[in-house]
Amino acid sequence: MTNLRDQLHRPLRDLRISVTDRCNFRCQYCMPAEVFGPDFAFLPPDKILSFEEIERLVKIFVSLGVKKVRITGGEPLLRRDLPKLIERIHRIDGVEDIALTTNGTLLKKYASDLAKAGLSRVAVSLDSLNEGRFFQINGHRGKVKTVLEGIEKAAEAGLLVKINMVVQKGVNGQDIVSMAEFFKDKQHILRFIEYMDVGNSNGWRMNDVVSKKEIIDQLHQVFPLQAVEPNYKGEVATRYQYLDDTGEVGVISSVTDSFCSTCSRARISAEGILYTCLFATEGTDLRELLRTEADDATITQCISEVWENRNDRYSDERNEQTMEKRKKSKIEMSHIGG
Ligand code: SAM
Ligand code: SF4
Ligand code: SF4
Repeated sequence: MTNLRDQLHRPLRDLRISVTDRCNFRCQYCMPAEVFGPDFAFLPPDKILSFEEIERLVKIFVSLGVKKVRITGGEPLLRRDLPKLIERIHRIDGVEDIALTTNGTLLKKYASDLAKAGLSRVAVSLDSLNEGRFFQINGHRGKVKTVLEGIEKAAEAGLLVKINMVVQKGVNGQDIVSMAEFFKDKQHILRFIEYMDVGNSNGWRMNDVVSKKEIIDQLHQVFPLQAVEPNYKGEVATRYQYLDDTGEVGVISSVTDSFCSTCSRARISAEGILYTCLFATEGTDLRELLRTEADDATITQCISEVWENRNDRYSDERNEQTMEKRKKSKIEMSHIGG
């Protein structure tokens, strides 16, 4: 394994792979139905990386320092035979942890096969327990009940489950306490995510963000909390423990308290473009290399150079940036994954 470092001395440790750009939800903050309508041109199958191609890339990334792999999308469980991909990745020497981010709608069906294939963890996105509000947020596509059934199946299958809730002012801010109460009882870790200005479609405004401080203040009044140390360097969520010893919650505060200095994540989109930041405006086409029969050494060299030249720190810079720069066309969240 090489000791690859980027321009800010950050190692390459995590790889997030988007396996599809399609989704069965139309969350307003990610794939608003007005933009991702019936005529939207999703990627045709031949433009999407095959399982063989993904496996080859993961092996190369592991040789460069990657230890953790996260599968995402779009909705990754829409990709046919996903457990078979997990199995392939699980067999790769050096992969210590495989996780999946999903909206949970198909988890009931696949949880057991995913666990058997070697998946260790699943992050299930759920923004409210209120059926009406959830339906509104996901573009009138899915039910809370289905997601909760998926969560239970995942836990039964032995997967470590975390819940992700994107908090938006005036949309689901009122659900912070009820979500915490529900998942505290179930012993699943809930993580609140500050609403981010990813992509160009969601009409993000700073005023719609509920900050880490506001979230914790609100919770603390009902369930007293104390901050605890991260489990490891570079953990994205700030951890808080309930003082009554009933578990913990996390907050991913990429807007009000960014964490670029420890960011060790690379991302590959469904069509094989390598991005070194969630807010990237351009990436490096690995599919082209894979399909022009470049050997592993050439691909390894290309990825090393990209990482060594990396100096992304978008969230740290967010407040310094001019609107001009912010308006540059960013990659959509559904394309790059979370
Ligand atoms: N479809 C899957 C899901 O929803 O879990 C995986 C892909 S989704 C893009 C990954 C994560 O990004 C989800 O937890 C989602 O809530 C989060 N996300 C999407 N758009 C966001 C935004 N504008 N701000 C904060 N989080 C966002
Ligand atoms: Fe789909 Fe996930 Fe984006 Fe919602 S957040 S539209 S479930 S990809
Ligand atoms: Fe990493 Fe970019 Fe997010 Fe900063 S803004 S933490 S560099 S993905």
